[in-house]
Amino acid sequence: MDTNKSPEPTQASNFIRNIVAEDIKNNKNSGKVITRFPPEPNGYLHIGHAKSICLNFGLAAEFNGICNLRFDDTNPSKEEQEYVDSIMADVRWLGFDWQERLYFASDYFERLYDFAVQLINSGKAYVCDLSGDEIRQYRGTLTEPGKESPYRNRTVEENLDLFERMRKGEFPDGARVLRAKIDMSSGNINMRDPVMYRIKHEDHQRTGSKWCIYPMYDYAHPLSDSIEGITHSVCTMEYEDHRPLYDWFLEQLDICRTQQIEFARLNITYTVLSKRKLLKLVSENFVSGWDDPRMPTIAGMRRRGYPPAAIRNFCDRIGVGKRDSMVDMALLEFCVREDLNKTALRVMSVLKPLKVVITNYPEGQYDELDAVNNPEDSSAGTRKVPFSRELYIEQDDFMEEPPKQFFRLAPGREVRLRYAYFIKCESVVKDSAGNIVEIHCTYDPATRGGDAPDGRKVKATLHWVSAAHALDAEVRLYDTLFAKEAPDDIEEGMEFTENLNPKSLEKNIAKVEPSLKSAQPGAQYQFERLGYFCVDSFDSKTGHPVFNRIVTLKDEWAKIQKTAKK
Ligand code: ATP
Ligand code: MG
Repeated sequence: MDTNKSPEPTQASNFIRNIVAEDIKNNKNSGKVITRFPPEPNGYLHIGHAKSICLNFGLAAEFNGICNLRFDDTNPSKEEQEYVDSIMADVRWLGFDWQERLYFASDYFERLYDFAVQLINSGKAYVCDLSGDEIRQYRGTLTEPGKESPYRNRTVEENLDLFERMRKGEFPDGARVLRAKIDMSSGNINMRDPVMYRIKHEDHQRTGSKWCIYPMYDYAHPLSDSIEGITHSVCTMEYEDHRPLYDWFLEQLDICRTQQIEFARLNITYTVLSKRKLLKLVSENFVSGWDDPRMPTIAGMRRRGYPPAAIRNFCDRIGVGKRDSMVDMALLEFCVREDLNKTALRVMSVLKPLKVVITNYPEGQYDELDAVNNPEDSSAGTRKVPFSRELYIEQDDFMEEPPKQFFRLAPGREVRLRYAYFIKCESVVKDSAGNIVEIHCTYDPATRGGDAPDGRKVKATLHWVSAAHALDAEVRLYDTLFAKEAPDDIEEGMEFTENLNPKSLEKNIAKVEPSLKSAQPGAQYQFERLGYFCVDSFDSKTGHPVFNRIVTLKDEWAKIQKTAKK
């Protein structure tokens, strides 16, 4: 796998779009475009699924077609209603609409059964009594052909009888399977009499106890596509070798031919995108749930505060190709920042407070200053921020003995407080252990609003809050979930969870400006100089918001692009 850190092309390439455009030109499928997004309800959706959703719904939208939502619910042991509900909520939140076309593979069980009977009747399927292990042994390898099952030449009558009795529940799990009769010496292992149905005495979340035989993905998927008249069945590269089998079922049954097209799945640095691994993180409490804001799930990103438009934009930018690649997390964050820059209101908050006393400002008095809500959007207006004798600034914005490159506040130095005044540090107050507890400054009333009438300049502008007016709020700062760029690269005997980043979550009690008292769950803000933050939808209480940092303001992606150009 190569790491794709090159600057993004202006128009991301998408080879599937070209195929569809060509098909329309040739009036293939009478010019119709019908796609589908086919999740298995065995986990929450992640950013990789978002790529598939944007692609499938995007193709339909672009070519005046439709896109179905179809649950691939053929394995009751791993599937749950909770996942069905979350998947629908996530697709909707991403901005896509399947209208009335919500389908379930389980709705087709009866028809899939009839198709199987048809294949038995034409001598193309048989009931096999080999065990799972035996079937594997008989299958052969990449270099050796397989061996035919001793049950391969059962008569049609016997097969029909056994298959019907499988359905009726006469046999225990694993006793028999239905297999397609294709070619045990095929160079493609998928064509060596693949299993179509297995016995599973297990209730299904939709069909209850009606069935005890369940179709395999490779059988259910092409038929479901065909039943819905899907024109382009878009899936990830691992199904490329299954395509001959996909085509085989549709040819044998002589039903609507859907074209399967494979594309490279999305991988992102510093995270994993496998439902099995994400499930492990949740079930073993490495994270707080599927919607933990560090998770690469859609639910996690929503809770973190990523705007859906930013995710769609990201999916557009990465393009669609056939080569496996690793996309830098910095590109996703760039898209998030780009979107929030236009929409998020600016406010001031101090994450690690240091008290500042303005010695020449009268005690008990306060002042209200005008602050701009969003410099990118004049319609967002202004708000009042209170200024008083005691303020907080960021600990990092003061140094008693500043090195050369440090331009912020230091003894004897003057800086600007955003929207307020110039202040000058006069002295430092320490406790008995020598720790700085507060600093004493004077302010220049003539600089109200932030500029000096005599034209004198300062080298830094700091954010701040008024101590008496500020609100305490929990702020959660996130780092990448994994410490390693490719967490899946592990040595033998090691678990991917060993690559988790122990510093992925830091909690602070911050001082935030009073206007945030009424901040609504889900609302996004820019805390000036600190990043974009979102009011947590689950842990915030009325009047007591909890904030998640969505992204910092640092544009790592620009840095990566610059080094790539050098
Ligand atoms: P599994 O099949 O192992 O449970 P899956 O991630 O393939 O996991 P599905 O529910 O089958 O999950 O996925 C639904 C659709 O999303 C499929 O068409 C699949 O190809 C696509 N998809 C899944 N992961 C990615 C990814 N990382 N990038 C792009 N598309 C993906
Ligand atoms: Mg899958």
